[in-house]
Amino acid sequence: VVKSLTPKTLPEALEFRKHQRLIPLAGGTDLMVRKRSWAGTLPKFEYPALFIGGLAELKGINVKDGILTIGAAATLASILEHPAVPDIVKQAISIMASPAIRNAGTLAGNICNASPAADTLPPLYVLGTVLILQSTAAQRELPIAEFIKGPGQTNLQTDELLVAVQIPIQSYDVSFYKKVAARKADALSKVSFAGLAKVSGDMVTDLRMAIGAVAPRVVRSKEAEQLLKGRKIRDLAGLIPELKKIYDPLIRPIDDQRSDAVYRSQVAHRLIEYYIMQCASATAHAK
Ligand SMILES: Cc1cc2nc3c(=O)[nH]c(=O)nc-3n(C[C@H](O)[C@H](O)[C@H](O)COP(=O)(O)OP(=O)(O)OC[C@H]3O[C@@H](n4cnc5c(N)ncnc54)[C@H](O)[C@@H]3O)c2cc1C
Repeated sequence: VVKSLTPKTLPEALEFRKHQRLIPLAGGTDLMVRKRSWAGTLPKFEYPALFIGGLAELKGINVKDGILTIGAAATLASILEHPAVPDIVKQAISIMASPAIRNAGTLAGNICNASPAADTLPPLYVLGTVLILQSTAAQRELPIAEFIKGPGQTNLQTDELLVAVQIPIQSYDVSFYKKVAARKADALSKVSFAGLAKVSGDMVTDLRMAIGAVAPRVVRSKEAEQLLKGRKIRDLAGLIPELKKIYDPLIRPIDDQRSDAVYRSQVAHRLIEYYIMQCASATAHAK
């Protein structure tokens, strides 16, 4: 039998969390599948569910001092409609699942599920996203790459909730997102890729890329990004072989029901190359 608690406010939710082992449930679109049992019977939860999807304090999306804050109970559909949400996040969400799932599912749930194939993760990594974690005792901030430890594993403490997702608002000259999947909708990624770059004159001043579903965690290499920063645009293509050497040991996909390791690895390398060529043909935004 699913036992659940439905707090009315965030302080009440945190109080429940402090005293008892609970499973936070926002949209339930991951949990209800993960905990499913035989057809016609209720899902099996090892601990009672804490329903946080209805908490008004966690539904807001707003911008202050150049930071976009997305509440943990904001649905994927509401995020898609907000004008301040970066295009690269909207691109990922717009081809996630289906409208019905997006009406219930949350960005916070996609992050906390910590699947290597979670579609919002590569965009959130390149955007420099920071997560706000709260307990009754304290609030702390963690960059997303430090929060996710491995498949299904995060740094969330048993008395904490992820309350907000914060994204610095900046403008980029190149924004590139690609999801490779079996179908255009309602299919999980075989590989996903997000890239952002800034260009000044004929020089790349900032270049970031993150690859999903090719390793236990999203792959982002500071070494590769440093190699490209400050380079002349015309020199980028020539650096691709060196880049591939950096990414080769990091791209370690698995075979599963969606794809195989060889395909994933080849696609990831091709996407790196394609993105670098996009950057190589970029021009700076008029300032
Ligand atoms: C048919 C179908 C298609 C799908 N397609 C895709 C797809 O294309 N791409 C993709 O990436 N995903 C997909 N998903 C997975 C899922 O919809 C997303 O991961 C969604 O964002 C999960 O959000 P949720 O609010 O429903 O999470 P929940 O199921 O409510 O929670 C997921 C996990 O996060 C934890 N959690 C949730 N909120 C918090 C919080 N605030 N604090 C702490 N822990 C929290 C829960 O305890 C749980 O472990 C699909 C799912 C289905 C059923």
